[in-house]
Amino acid sequence: MNRKQRRAMEKKVGKDNSQKLADKIFQFDKLPDECLACLKPFDKKSKEMATTWNVVIRDKDTVRLYCPECWDTAQKVIEQYKKEKENDS
Ligand SMILES: [Zn+2]
Repeated sequence: MNRKQRRAMEKKVGKDNSQKLADKIFQFDKLPDECLACLKPFDKKSKEMATTWNVVIRDKDTVRLYCPECWDTAQKVIEQYKKEKENDS
């Protein structure tokens, strides 16, 4: 791999990579049109929603979409679960 190729690759996997990936996912036709948890409608044309909603991909046929509120709640539940596990051991 030469320097030019490496630069191109570093650019590709740079820190804004996750956002680029999200952009790609939001163009994905498998994307649900509502939040999996609260069924709030998701507007695929909304740039704001595309940057704030969260996508979880299990495999190419399983895409889960969560609004920021439900995502937040899920993160808290996971945190709580981790804490409880730590306390147990
Ligand atoms: Zn939701």
